[in-house]
Amino acid sequence: MQTRFSQLSHHLYVHHGHVNTGILRDGDRALLIDPSGTTLRTTLSDLGITDVEQILFTHHHRDSTTGFPMSDNVRVGIPAKEAAWFSEVETFWNDSQYRWHLYNYRPHNLMLANPIPVTDTYAEGAQFEWGPASLTVLETPGHTDGSVTYLIDVDGERFAFSGDLIYDEGQLWELYSLQKGQQTSDYHGFLGARDELTESLEKIREASPTALIPTHGVVMHTPDRAIDALLQRLAHCYDRYVAISALRHYFPKLFAEFEGRAGHMPIREGRPPPEFLRHFGTTWLIISENGEAFVMDCGSPNVIKQIQQLQAEGDLGRNSQADMTPPEVTQFWVTHYHDDHVDAIPEFQATFPCETITDSVVARVITNPSGFRLPCISPSVTRVDRITGDGDSWQWNEFTMTAYHFPGQTYYHGGLLVEGRGVRMFFAGDSFTMAGIDDYCSGNRNLLGKDAGYEKCLRRIQQLKPTHIFNCHVDPAFDFTDAEIQCMLDTLAEREKCYTALFPWDHANYGMDEQWVRCYPYEQEVARGETAQLSVEITNHSYEPRTAIAQPILPSRWGIEIASAETTIPARSDGHIDFSVPIPQSEWEGFVTPTNIPQSEWEGFVTPTNIPQGEWEGFVTPTSRIVIPVDITYDERPLGQFREAIFVLTGD
Ligand SMILES: [Zn+2]
Ligand SMILES: [Zn+2]
Repeated sequence: MQTRFSQLSHHLYVHHGHVNTGILRDGDRALLIDPSGTTLRTTLSDLGITDVEQILFTHHHRDSTTGFPMSDNVRVGIPAKEAAWFSEVETFWNDSQYRWHLYNYRPHNLMLANPIPVTDTYAEGAQFEWGPASLTVLETPGHTDGSVTYLIDVDGERFAFSGDLIYDEGQLWELYSLQKGQQTSDYHGFLGARDELTESLEKIREASPTALIPTHGVVMHTPDRAIDALLQRLAHCYDRYVAISALRHYFPKLFAEFEGRAGHMPIREGRPPPEFLRHFGTTWLIISENGEAFVMDCGSPNVIKQIQQLQAEGDLGRNSQADMTPPEVTQFWVTHYHDDHVDAIPEFQATFPCETITDSVVARVITNPSGFRLPCISPSVTRVDRITGDGDSWQWNEFTMTAYHFPGQTYYHGGLLVEGRGVRMFFAGDSFTMAGIDDYCSGNRNLLGKDAGYEKCLRRIQQLKPTHIFNCHVDPAFDFTDAEIQCMLDTLAEREKCYTALFPWDHANYGMDEQWVRCYPYEQEVARGETAQLSVEITNHSYEPRTAIAQPILPSRWGIEIASAETTIPARSDGHIDFSVPIPQSEWEGFVTPTNIPQSEWEGFVTPTNIPQGEWEGFVTPTSRIVIPVDITYDERPLGQFREAIFVLTGD
């Protein structure tokens, strides 16, 4: 058990809560850095501090900025570049660009649920005095785009409060915050912020602090050694990523410096697909001998037009009798939930009445996309007629189809083996290219470990030995040699080790799988006066059982506190903690009502059109989106307001 606080110098202390809070003390008054959590109060009273004069935040993340009640007259200083993410948080929660078609993850969804009033913003080089200390601000992006480090010169030493740039010697708190686009969107930028992170750590090193105090992590008394160890480990982890990355196929120039490196899988040649296949957009289409079509994915209305074009040209249904209209598209398979594969499915289903089939894990997302917050997610809702489990087989004309859960490019992904006409074709969705595996977005849940993620997919390919593998975005078919599959498996096994060493967790997936704790449904409509059901789902990535505690934090104006609840999750499996959340009858309670207007004239309207704006502006409207942060403790480690759910209030 870690001590609750420690003393770094005569005037400087660190409180070790779920994050570290710097306490610069001058008698009974103090300046705090990254105050968060409720246990801080006890430390402050132990130190005899009665007056918190000033607060500084290194970055905007909710898990290190909430839970410590602030008095009205306290000065609050933040990074100038993150000012909007402290004050205009409603923009983030209400703008659909931060909810759907997510290809960019900055700012991050660890956004505050409620704004924090700010008095000071600091840019690079800002300096000020407080009590016995002088403080200097360094802009140190990496973990977030606007993160800063506060250098404190006090008692003849220099201390660096470096946010979440580094956790401990050679370690990071997590890796998904480093997802950042270089020449493309953040989606393609696995570890894309590592250059920024490196520059920021070098900048701190140049300032020669005697200690680094991270927001999450362990105080480092040998900063040089701690930084060197992290940079070396990150370089190795990135090398093991590039070695088998499918992205080398799409963006070879991005990886020019790695070409020909030892241990990097060479890029394999493609081969022509069989003549009875068609490919447009992200859609593959199989034409049977009887002229019927089996279609996979529909990301755009163009695909519908192109299928109609095939029909017009007589490529489909040509063997059917002239007096009948053949059901030309007879089955439809959805590979995964990404928007470029599902956006136009409602229109497709209206145009081609046929059976829609998908894997059970994929079905969960595409039938209720509001329930999830995931990369590239589409608001289009898909009707699914048949849900498949691992290994379910059926006959479609002269072909035998076999469905698999295929957690490659994303966890929510299927694979389809199609056997017939002398070939064994495997439709792998977006999971492979000839260059390797498609795991360049950490938000996609590419899990490491035995019988998980790509390990499971590669074992399946090894077992099925397809003659042709297909990617939805790539024209040629391809296959892998036994040696190539082994190279990918070996690299994944190495990754499991080197990424586990990178994080303060007993398995790499905690640092890589942003969704290891998630709310289901992520977003739901709830009626006033009713009770909402909310489930906090947790993946235990450890090889031993783990205990998790969750507590949803309701808006303070509701005056309702939900008790925390606990569950024990067996090794390497999913668990959940379920909550019933009472929704107040009226969100208007506690607010001043519009004067002189009967309630019936404004209630129930999003914008009460018949009422002058000045009389209702500033009121919570009946369809408010309410952010419900969820506080998590896992394996006795408190994580703060680690995840969130959204309630959309309706009706009365
Ligand atoms: Zn953070
Ligand atoms: Zn995809």
